[in-house]
Amino acid sequence: MFSGIKPKKRAAVLVLLLQVFFVFGQFVPKDPVLFAKARELAQKFIIVDGHVDLPYRLRVQNFRFVKEFTGIPIETHEGDFDFKRARQGGLDAPFMSIYIPASYQTNGGAAALADSLIEMVEYITTTHPDYFTIAKNPNDVILAKKEGKIALPMGMENGAPVEDDLRLVRHFKEKGISYITLTHSKDNKICDSSYDTTQTWKGISPYGFNLLDEMVRQGIMVDISHISDNACHQVFDYVKVPVIASHSSVRKYTPGFERNISDTLLLRLKKNGGVVMINFGTDFLDGEISKFNNQKRNELHQLLLEKKLDKNSEEGKNVIADFTKKYPTLFSDVYMVADHIDHVVRLIGIEHVGLGSDYDGVGDSLPVGLKDVADYPNLLYVLLERGYAEADIEAICYKNLFRVWNQVLEAAE
Ligand SMILES: [Zn+2]
Repeated sequence: MFSGIKPKKRAAVLVLLLQVFFVFGQFVPKDPVLFAKARELAQKFIIVDGHVDLPYRLRVQNFRFVKEFTGIPIETHEGDFDFKRARQGGLDAPFMSIYIPASYQTNGGAAALADSLIEMVEYITTTHPDYFTIAKNPNDVILAKKEGKIALPMGMENGAPVEDDLRLVRHFKEKGISYITLTHSKDNKICDSSYDTTQTWKGISPYGFNLLDEMVRQGIMVDISHISDNACHQVFDYVKVPVIASHSSVRKYTPGFERNISDTLLLRLKKNGGVVMINFGTDFLDGEISKFNNQKRNELHQLLLEKKLDKNSEEGKNVIADFTKKYPTLFSDVYMVADHIDHVVRLIGIEHVGLGSDYDGVGDSLPVGLKDVADYPNLLYVLLERGYAEADIEAICYKNLFRVWNQVLEAAE
């Protein structure tokens, strides 16, 4: 949507349309027959999502190892993911993010946190074996779908838990970790982060290269989401197996946002044979909207400072309410997610794109039409509307990721 219009005009049109139609609105598919087809395909095809932050969300909600814990994701009103909504949306294999905040790199405890989050995922599958099962490879996912279960593969977001002992790579592989995102929001001992400006290693550290060797030996996918451009280039120079970006969108629509993948790097991804899995967060989808929201957030902050108001005071709350009524937070939409997919397909081909929503990881910034895991049919509908063939949609939903995953497992020693 809007991709043919000049950027400045596009921003104005977008902001206006979003304010008028979408802010309080919902995505309504216009063609019921096509929507029925989209829903059918969502159920028929395996849908893999490269990144769902359920484990950390549950940790924040004080997960307890008792069956009665109300956050156990069967049917809840919390967060973006549970069994019931996943079934509705056709989601079969959300990669559970074993997320390690950057503070654990400096303060220690990364391996212990990773173990505890993995244990949480294991606990969910062992206490609810009719609903969930751990998946360590594509065949596990296929089997889970046949049995009507949601497969829970795992990816580790931040390589910090490997600490100083490369033998831990094998430990995590055995526990079910299928990819490692080399770092998160700060440079770590493996490589530089796209969110950090220190450029500690100007890419990958010497230790980082050893880690890459060990990951390839153990059959763990290399995830280039979050790492700096220099680090990305060095991964492409060094690694001989295809890689993934588990939850990154394209930089074309978010100029200057290094966290998304540039066209230059997309071209290298094509040569590498890898897959970029598109992130659904509004900040990842639309630089204009992201800028607008940030600007308004800053203005509100300034306003409270000028008036010397605490945001939790009665008067402060009133000022915030008035301001947000005047300038509601804007959201991107499902059409924009399709724009990102279109761009990857145009530039490097249908074989290199997948879905990596970042559900439960991007707060309330999800786009209209993709508010939780029940909504994948909306995206499939838009793709059908744009003329994507069934085989193309199948490739996006799981086949591309399965290709990389199988290749990495086959290359393992
Ligand atoms: Zn992330």
